[in-house]
Amino acid sequence: MTERSEPVPVRTRVHVSGLVQGVGFRPFVWREATDRGLSGWVGNDAAGVVLEAEGAADAVASLVDALRRPPPMARVDEVRSESLPPAGGVGFRVRASDTAGARRALVSPDTATCADCARELHDPADRRFGYPFVNCTNCGPRYTIVLAVPYDRSRTTMAPFAMCAACRSEYDDPADRRFHAEPVCCPACGPRLRLLDPSGRVLAADPVAGAVALLRGGGVVAVKGLGGYHLAVDARSEEAVAGLRRRKHREDRPFAVMVVDVEAAREVCAVGPEELSLLTSAAHPIVVLTRHAGADVAPSVAPLCPTLGVMLPYTPLHMLLLEACRGPLVLTSGNVSDEPIAFRDDDASERLSGIADAFLVHDREIRTRVDDSVCKVVRGGVVPIRRSRGYVPAATALPVWSPEPVLACGSALKNTFCVTRGSHAFVSHHVGDLGDYATMRSYVDGIAHLTRLLDVVPAVVAHDLHPDYPSTRYALDLPDVTLVPVQHHHAHIAACLADNGITRQVIGVAFDGVGLGTDGTAWGGEFLLADMSGFTRVGHLAQVVMPGGDAATREPWRMAAAHLDAAYDGSPPAGLDVVRRSGRRWEQVLSAARAGVNSPLTSSVGRLFDAVSSLLGVRDVVTYEGQAAIELEHVSDHAERGSYAVPVSEGPVLRIEVDHLVRAVVEDLARATAVPVLAARFHNALADVVLAACLRLRDLHGLSTVALSGGVFQNALLLCRCLDRLEGAGFTVLTHRLVPANDGGISLGQAAVATQLLSSR
Ligand code: ZN
Ligand code: ZN
Ligand code: FE
Repeated sequence: MTERSEPVPVRTRVHVSGLVQGVGFRPFVWREATDRGLSGWVGNDAAGVVLEAEGAADAVASLVDALRRPPPMARVDEVRSESLPPAGGVGFRVRASDTAGARRALVSPDTATCADCARELHDPADRRFGYPFVNCTNCGPRYTIVLAVPYDRSRTTMAPFAMCAACRSEYDDPADRRFHAEPVCCPACGPRLRLLDPSGRVLAADPVAGAVALLRGGGVVAVKGLGGYHLAVDARSEEAVAGLRRRKHREDRPFAVMVVDVEAAREVCAVGPEELSLLTSAAHPIVVLTRHAGADVAPSVAPLCPTLGVMLPYTPLHMLLLEACRGPLVLTSGNVSDEPIAFRDDDASERLSGIADAFLVHDREIRTRVDDSVCKVVRGGVVPIRRSRGYVPAATALPVWSPEPVLACGSALKNTFCVTRGSHAFVSHHVGDLGDYATMRSYVDGIAHLTRLLDVVPAVVAHDLHPDYPSTRYALDLPDVTLVPVQHHHAHIAACLADNGITRQVIGVAFDGVGLGTDGTAWGGEFLLADMSGFTRVGHLAQVVMPGGDAATREPWRMAAAHLDAAYDGSPPAGLDVVRRSGRRWEQVLSAARAGVNSPLTSSVGRLFDAVSSLLGVRDVVTYEGQAAIELEHVSDHAERGSYAVPVSEGPVLRIEVDHLVRAVVEDLARATAVPVLAARFHNALADVVLAACLRLRDLHGLSTVALSGGVFQNALLLCRCLDRLEGAGFTVLTHRLVPANDGGISLGQAAVATQLLSSR
């Protein structure tokens, strides 16, 4: 028998990069190392976390392995280890962070209340029982409360709250779930909830119970949440919901609802496995679900909509509120009409006092306004619609590295901006429509805040070609920067490439409302050969006029007039309903358009959707952007497989002859074909022509990857039909997964183009 020798200890230094600071990573390492009987230390450094561990070789190896399975809020990008000579020593220490390094660390997104905190919230024996601000290292506010970096309590809006002894000891103990959880607090030392009337008087001793009583009575309560104020009403009361619409001046755009748990979500909507994992993910976004017929939700919540935006409670306050209400609540952004959501207390009480009967508020300040994120699932994949709370400011990896930081200014509507550092792109929260003064102010402030947090001063600034976008004007006004103009649809396709980590040239199909083209016309139905460094326009929809310019976006019947005029050379068949409905204005608008008065040319697919929506009598005038197209999708009969032939004319640039499509729709309409069938055939015809054009481009250019981007591809029916056809023909199809296909993704595309330019210089 041979004698076993003592194992020789090994010592390893490990560098971990990724989202590993402020997310409980050091205590996680401490626990894992201590459990394995290892000695050494762990600390933060400039790139992330660094540690040294010494002990038995297999124990050290298993620790390194465990680093790949980090705590919930962390994300590990890379683990690098090197061996060192053993140094002896006992115990495992957590080192305090050094400020210089921590400055480069990443601030994490706000995260929904974790299961441990929810348990404490509901445990009568816990000292945080029923406390609406319970949080820990694995959950709670982050980006919305951070003032500056390095991220610690003194640089958050929790700074005014001095920790009590009990909280302090949890905060200082590496074995505790709240070790260095900066927003840690309790009823003795943390923020407090109050219920106020619009004049600021306290309404009830128990704020949650008082708010619930008001809600049950049909009242509107403004609720201060994580990233701003919501307006809440009982989602089952038609009177309350319709009243909120009137007071908010919001006509048709669907409201989202919050339900108490997954079971309650299943009562109103179908919830598939991917939808379930999104609903319960750390971000807790609004997920657009298919509504059950007869779901107990007031008609005014989402008029004319077979879907419903649903979210689960993501703060302890929301949990308490929903549990007491015993029914779904409409929870919509606290604003009037299209203004930005209110997030500062004085501003909220001023702007919302005409709408809300009471204010459920607290004294933890919100530093950055962050709206709820919205997504849906199409064919098992996530389709982001609005990327904000819970996702921002997490980095998106760019497939190229840049020696210099870039600021990308984004679009004019659904604006986000984007800041890069190395190969990381930080797409901002949803800023909104920059036409509004308050939104523009928050845009400027947001850029200053995020660049400070990231410790960069970008001297390269990417912007849209459109000179009148407020974001473009902002870029042009910046002193001493290098400007990189990026065409709108190139930015859409570049965003899709960056989203998928692809750098090779692809066939880009960019379908949206409108964006300025390099020829000065309004593009929006484009086929591009593109990579991140450039593009060639190789196809587009045949152009028509937009009678009245922007007015055509608000009044889809104008686009019906333009498309009919083009398809029938000025004399459409008699007896069309849309002509009758528009009355005298039809001829007035057309004669102005024919004379070229305020009638820019466009190749937009979004405007074609508008035209067909009006032609079919679905929607003549919209109350929110995209409404006509959205309703056309919603009325479609998904079982219908019929289509219309749409020719693609050859030439140096392919042209999609939409006049054929318009005539086919009109002829089908004359046969009294049902609207749902017509609407579906229109979608199918578009998908067919996308395939035909891509096949042609594959023959011509040898490319077999297609990137689909632009707001039109949020249309699930069109997206599915395109995916079916393209994948069936052997194409690799790229769609958006991280940032929206709509203009919310434009800033990432601009950043990708500028980064590519810098990296190849
Ligand atoms: Zn927690
Ligand atoms: Zn405390
Ligand atoms: Fe666009």
